[in-house]
Amino acid sequence: MTETATREEVHDLAKATLDGLLQFVDSEVLPLEEKFRDVLADERKLFRDDGRLVDEVAEARLSVRKKSAAAGFYAMFAPEEIGGGGLPALANVLILEALYRKYGPGRLFIGWSNAFLGSPVVASFIDGPSRMFMGVTDAVRNDVLPGLLAGEKTVCFGLTEPNAGSDVWGLQTKAVRDGDEWVINGTKQWITNAPYADHAAIFAVTNPELAAEHKGGISCFLVDAVSPGYSADTVLPIMGHVASDCGMITLDDVRVSSDRLLGELDQGFQIGMLGISEGRLMIAGGCVGMSEWALDRSLEYV
Ligand SMILES: Cc1cc2nc3c(=O)[nH]c(=O)nc-3n(C[C@H](O)[C@H](O)[C@H](O)COP(=O)(O)OP(=O)(O)OC[C@H]3O[C@@H](n4cnc5c(N)ncnc54)[C@H](O)[C@@H]3O)c2cc1C
Repeated sequence: MTETATREEVHDLAKATLDGLLQFVDSEVLPLEEKFRDVLADERKLFRDDGRLVDEVAEARLSVRKKSAAAGFYAMFAPEEIGGGGLPALANVLILEALYRKYGPGRLFIGWSNAFLGSPVVASFIDGPSRMFMGVTDAVRNDVLPGLLAGEKTVCFGLTEPNAGSDVWGLQTKAVRDGDEWVINGTKQWITNAPYADHAAIFAVTNPELAAEHKGGISCFLVDAVSPGYSADTVLPIMGHVASDCGMITLDDVRVSSDRLLGELDQGFQIGMLGISEGRLMIAGGCVGMSEWALDRSLEYV
């Protein structure tokens, strides 16, 4: 859809998309919830000892992702230039609001659940194709994007570190050039989907002088989770739950080819903000929807 679409046109498009999306959830996803009702109700059955989802639930989430992708919903907010549906920001907010208003929180196969932020129905920058992939190299476009768009593979967003949260310029992960490769060392923390991701967008300092002046110097690399020296073994429990989809990533002399750069060298801060801005919109839409869901339930009760 063009950037010049009127507000009414976007509302109409969101409504038409939503009708199909809600039908998809009702027919393809709710039966899975029913099938796994016992497991979903008990975190001791839902998570393995290492904090990851038990295999049958992880596979069911994968099947939802693939079906949603095939039906045209999973990558609907990703830009058309990379093979997504190209729905504009306003549609993104309207659709997320309506999705969460209908289904509410705690739905592991639909969206934000007890301990999971990622949705297998709708991709976002924390797990799937997003605006962050605009202007990628041919290598990423050919090797990585098809799997992400099809819902077969996922990515995670590796920015936060033990000593760098709100203060992104305090990143300590470093990437040093060695011929056609970069060598990355550092630790990432609170990374959603890290325990499951096939690839990680890792933010690292490539020019310490620029980074110290807050003028750039951070780059974003797409690292494969199977790379030697890459480890995402630690799953973080969150308050009130035995696990979550957040994890830690350690990078110990991880080598990545220079054609796995996302965006321009030293301009990774902007790539990160592209992802976070999209995420803020989706979270805002979903939170409004969940508030409405809670209000609807309250009104029903009284
Ligand atoms: C469930 C969950 C999922 C997450 N997923 C991801 C992910 O996928 N990828 C990723 O990279 N990160 C992720 N994060 C990390 C998240 O982005 C950070 O938690 C966030 O950036 C805040 O950083 P911090 O937790 O280190 O808090 P801090 O930066 O230490 O902030 C702590 C408090 O201090 C305040 N504060 C900080 N700096 C200042 C200042 N200069 N002046 C005044 N007050 C200040 C803050 O507002 C806050 O209240 C996730 C976090 C959570 C909890």
